[in-house]
Amino acid sequence: MKTIVLFLFIFVAIACKASTVVYVCNNGTTNKYHLKPNCRGLSRCHFKVVKMTLEKAKASQKTLCRHELPKQQKQQAPSKKKHKT
Ligand SMILES: [Zn+2]
Repeated sequence: MKTIVLFLFIFVAIACKASTVVYVCNNGTTNKYHLKPNCRGLSRCHFKVVKMTLEKAKASQKTLCRHELPKQQKQQAPSKKKHKT
């Protein structure tokens, strides 16, 4: 029974943390948001940098800037070793 209470507590904690602030260049055309205000992509912004919640950014079809994307693990097939001839 305690497990359920704990689970509920964690859920609430996550729900409260949902309002992550992101940074968007207010040039009117960007569709990227940034997690860090000092991001490389954002430093190129010559307009005002606006703060908004992650939810709002996502709601306006914005995606995470490519500099801050988690490194994707390329699941490439093991490279074929050259046959020794
Ligand atoms: Zn960025």
